[in-house]
Amino acid sequence: MLHDGKSRALRIPLTHNAPGFPEGVRGPDLIARMTRHAVQYGAVIQETEVAAIEAVAGGFSLDLKDGSTRGSCAVVLATGVDLNQVDLPEAVHEAAIRAGVLRYCPVCDGYEHIGKRIGVIGCDTNGAAEALFLRGYSQNLTLMPLNRPELSSAEARAVADAGIRLESGALLALQPGADDITVLLDIGASLTFDVIYPALGCRPRSILAEQLGLDLTEAGCVTSGSVFESRVEGVFAAGDLVEGLDQISVAMGHGAVAATRAHNWLREQEQATLQSRT
Ligand SMILES: Cc1cc2nc3c(=O)[nH]c(=O)nc-3n(C[C@H](O)[C@H](O)[C@H](O)COP(=O)(O)OP(=O)(O)OC[C@H]3O[C@@H](n4cnc5c(N)ncnc54)[C@H](O)[C@@H]3O)c2cc1C
Repeated sequence: MLHDGKSRALRIPLTHNAPGFPEGVRGPDLIARMTRHAVQYGAVIQETEVAAIEAVAGGFSLDLKDGSTRGSCAVVLATGVDLNQVDLPEAVHEAAIRAGVLRYCPVCDGYEHIGKRIGVIGCDTNGAAEALFLRGYSQNLTLMPLNRPELSSAEARAVADAGIRLESGALLALQPGADDITVLLDIGASLTFDVIYPALGCRPRSILAEQLGLDLTEAGCVTSGSVFESRVEGVFAAGDLVEGLDQISVAMGHGAVAATRAHNWLREQEQATLQSRT
């Protein structure tokens, strides 16, 4: 298993929706446990960046950033996504995540903010969908544009009908505190929330998938069927890189399916090799 040390899960301060952890689990602790578990059963884990990958006779060749090359008979791509974030110095941004006043996954933790003051940044289809989802947990919801509102009239109506406040000013600055977070808008308004959800989408880390020629969605994710079988024989995909819900439990489920498909595919290849020899 090759990874470059940038799992999104490492940034989770405490999740309460990872199955089997009723008291919650910190992302780094979950990764440490999973690493120990995998190594205990024989996995070899190397921290390095894979710079390039190509299909070669009998499998795949991976160029690592340190200049070395590795061979592989089959590949499971689980390279994840990068978040589109609000503009804050990295240390301030990560401190706001740790304090829990800046959140990026309403499905993961929206229920932790029942009745709280919730702000959603990103006045487009994505932002409207997140605000409407969060409306199930609080009546105190405000939708703000990063730059300017880009809602269709139907979306604006749905937002208004749900009683969600719509701010028109663009975001000037964010000031995270220990228990709340203040937003300054260019219309002079200053609003304080218990939590802010930026709804700015993400950038799939799909460079290796592109190099292999996998089918990608418009957003750059690998298509969902690739968990079972991609258009490139011997390549499977899992996790956030695959279109759909970005969650630990989903990534684990994908991983189980993709690894089993890869295992069975390798056995089929071995069988074919044996038959061709007899
Ligand atoms: C702040 C935050 C809070 C979250 N809260 C929750 C939550 O409460 N519940 C929940 O279910 N989910 C939560 N998530 C989402 C969760 O982290 C992801 O769904 C999960 O980590 C997806 O697993 P993954 O393996 O697909 O991707 P990741 O965990 O992001 O792993 C991707 C891996 O690919 C590797 N990689 C990528 N490109 C290369 C390359 N070229 N060479 C080598 N390695 C590479 C990286 O090193 C990394 O190890 C949260 C995410 C964030 C950022």
